[in-house]
Amino acid sequence: MSQYHPLTPQEAIELARTLPDPFTADSNLECREIGDGNLNLVFHITDQNSDKSIIIKQALPYAKVVGESWPLSLVRARIEREILQEEYRLCPGMVPEVYHYDDDLALTVMEDLSDHVIMRKGLIEGTSYPLFAQHIGEFMARTLFFTSDLGMNQQLKKEKQGRFINPDQCKITEDLIFDEPYRIAEKNNYEASIEDEAEALRTDGELHLEVALLREKFLTHGEALLHGDLHTGSIFVTPESTKVIDPEFAYYGPMGFDIGAVIANLLLNYASLPGSIKDSQALQEREALLLDMVRDVWTEFESRFRALWVNDLVDPMAKAPGYQDLYVQKVFRDTAGFAGAKMVRRIVGLAHVADIDSIEDATERERAQRKSLAIGKALIKSNRRLNTIGELLDTVSTAV
Ligand code: ADP
Ligand code: MG
Ligand code: MG
Ligand code: MG
Repeated sequence: MSQYHPLTPQEAIELARTLPDPFTADSNLECREIGDGNLNLVFHITDQNSDKSIIIKQALPYAKVVGESWPLSLVRARIEREILQEEYRLCPGMVPEVYHYDDDLALTVMEDLSDHVIMRKGLIEGTSYPLFAQHIGEFMARTLFFTSDLGMNQQLKKEKQGRFINPDQCKITEDLIFDEPYRIAEKNNYEASIEDEAEALRTDGELHLEVALLREKFLTHGEALLHGDLHTGSIFVTPESTKVIDPEFAYYGPMGFDIGAVIANLLLNYASLPGSIKDSQALQEREALLLDMVRDVWTEFESRFRALWVNDLVDPMAKAPGYQDLYVQKVFRDTAGFAGAKMVRRIVGLAHVADIDSIEDATERERAQRKSLAIGKALIKSNRRLNTIGELLDTVSTAV
């Protein structure tokens, strides 16, 4: 349609007018750019004459990081759009519907989910999401199973794998999660008060071995088509509904990377709670609720994944006695290890989480940072020994 350039809000409105839906000739359109502008533009376009609205997400050809500009391939817009369509097919209603796209402009026109809230914000505000674990367990079981060699034709899987290769995006993860937190690196970002913790991360050989093994899995284990960035900032929720957005890091990788992302972000919120809840009874209740969510996310995933294995398996060799149990055990251990790695990077690496950073009291904030690191390191170090979600939760409780 046209050569790539970042759209202005006015151009986004003009583009919206050319679409067959949902606006009409007499729509009175307004547009606000609501993204954080670091990697992508997100335009929210509403019709003042009706309740109709859409989102246009457009990729930028760079990421802004610590003053420099880091070139990023625009291919991620096509990858994000294709995986949204794939996830919509596998889990209808759990991702925004794609209405239109333009690969030259690196943009996707999609359903507006503004009636939901970003889960990280909802958790920080203390809202409860009793159906979340069921929803995300179902989402992960279906998206991971049906894109793996267990649930789809193995030749078609190889072709699909080829459509979801994005070295630029993977390098971000490889650097920020599996490398820089463990050495002196310019993009690391932490407060001087925890310099001792950062130093300990750089000199812990036992930890480095486990991170190297996790990194190897991320680099080489193309088990399933991952979302790739499944933190609580990529999930829209209400107490009744869960919708996953922002799969621009999608690629073929180890299943535990997605499950670990969800669990890590629940545990980061858990570690932040003493910094925001002063009443000890209320604190205990909320902590128990977060740990229950962690338990439920895994158990809901596992039960659904095992049911798909029984009913929808395409690989006859996977019926070998004992294989399902070993496969689930591997995914579980990976989940624990990746969860730990994701916690560590959110404290000392480039990108932080608001759950912790928004704690105003410096002493409480430092406490939450140390707690997150203790839990993260314990999960990384124990991942290859853990067998049950109960053991994982014991590791969390005894880490601090
Ligand atoms: P980025 O990849 O730049 O993080 P996201 O896809 O996470 O972009 O979108 C950034 C923000 O834009 C989200 O946190 C949310 O507030 C808003 N947003 C994105 N997609 C939608 C949508 N479909 N409906 C409503 N708001 C959205
Ligand atoms: Mg962002
Ligand atoms: Mg995002
Ligand atoms: Mg993103």
